[in-house]
Amino acid sequence: MSTFHGRIKEYPTLSIDHFITTDTPKHYILSHVHKDHTRGLENINFNQSIYCTEQTALLLPLLENRSTKQLMYKHLKQCLIPIPYHQPMTITADATIKFTFLPANHCPGAALILVEGKNGTVLYTGDMRAEPDFVKAELDCLQSYRIKNLYMDTTCCYPDKRNFISKTQSINILVNLIKSYPVTHHMYLDCWTVGYEEMWISITENFGQKIHVSQQRYNMFCHANSLFDDILTTDPKTRFHSCHWDQECYIHEEYTISIHPKPNKNTKAFPHSPLRRLLNSDLPWDCEPLQRMILPFSTHSSLSEIVFFHKFVKPSEFTPCVVRGGWKSLDQMRLLLSQEGCTLDTSPSLDVEPVLHDQQGSCQLRSSMDQHSSNPSSINYLSSCNSSCTTTPYAPIILSIPPTQDHVLVTPSIRQQPSLSESEPDNEPFITKENTYKLLKSMKRLQKKRRLGSKNNPIPL
Ligand SMILES: [Zn+2]
Ligand SMILES: [Zn+2]
Repeated sequence: MSTFHGRIKEYPTLSIDHFITTDTPKHYILSHVHKDHTRGLENINFNQSIYCTEQTALLLPLLENRSTKQLMYKHLKQCLIPIPYHQPMTITADATIKFTFLPANHCPGAALILVEGKNGTVLYTGDMRAEPDFVKAELDCLQSYRIKNLYMDTTCCYPDKRNFISKTQSINILVNLIKSYPVTHHMYLDCWTVGYEEMWISITENFGQKIHVSQQRYNMFCHANSLFDDILTTDPKTRFHSCHWDQECYIHEEYTISIHPKPNKNTKAFPHSPLRRLLNSDLPWDCEPLQRMILPFSTHSSLSEIVFFHKFVKPSEFTPCVVRGGWKSLDQMRLLLSQEGCTLDTSPSLDVEPVLHDQQGSCQLRSSMDQHSSNPSSINYLSSCNSSCTTTPYAPIILSIPPTQDHVLVTPSIRQQPSLSESEPDNEPFITKENTYKLLKSMKRLQKKRRLGSKNNPIPL
């Protein structure tokens, strides 16, 4: 989950993927439709222009809230300014800035944002899967730029996420997994968010059937791309489902295999542990399929892909956009990337120290160039000052971390993050207490009884 606070220090008049402001940026840019990048857009009073890609402009107004099933962003329809990939857009704030959307290999419409202007060229990746074949084929143009600062998706910048299989390999595993089950078994593909459409496409190609989805999901994808007319259906009479598990689908529960794509280092699908719960899932929590399988599938870059992309772009500075766990994690990340051969910050930067709030709640920014210019490998960390800040030109806190003796004494292996191999990187807590698990099971049984009792036609058990 992105912890980026919206401002790039080189161009503070832009607000990227962040739409809650106490001051007023001149221009807003959205990299893609995922919720951790649209903070503030759910506010129905938001009425500023937003630059985004064409597919994002089509998808966003039709995205629903997963709990309430209400459209979250329909009030933005007139605010979205679609810009094609690779087409530079020039805007004028305090000075002229040019930005270009580039494909990100993350989800439909997702974009890297290349920003050029008098303060240098910077690249913000939003979320991206930097598979080397994709980067070489689609992003070769970056080789001709001198990137001053790379703002990178570091969701999976951890030693236990060093290598992921390619998306193509994930799809092959999915197809072979489905073929290993009798054709009488139904398959639930847990495409709970935008970004897993390759799974659907492979089903239609390999099994000649459409995938059952909700009316809203059908409308959204077919609106964005008419090809989905041949892939998705609102008719539940199919073996494949990515629906909200309607009553017509529920009758197949006991011979349904649910397949959950998750970023992890595995090279084959494996059963989901019943002691873990899937927070990010479209399956109702009381649904009990015959088997739950985890499919290794990542829409984010693995550690080795982050390193590859860093070496491909060769930025002067590197700013991670996903940092979980505060300073310790940032420290680990810096050390890890250095050990992987990334040269971090080869030139002094115009970093600023934390915004200091005085008693009246105003802010002061101080240049830290003199203090950190000797640091050979600084890494930036973005946070924001509190909401009472009214006097700063922009909000981020950008810090350089000086190397310490601690860095060489502590190895990544003993400081690495807890394993999240079956989960999304940002959440999915463990259920560790047996009693909690028993309680959950009994609640599920109760809920199931209620559902069965409420149906006109009893379901064969
Ligand atoms: Zn995303
Ligand atoms: Zn269904």
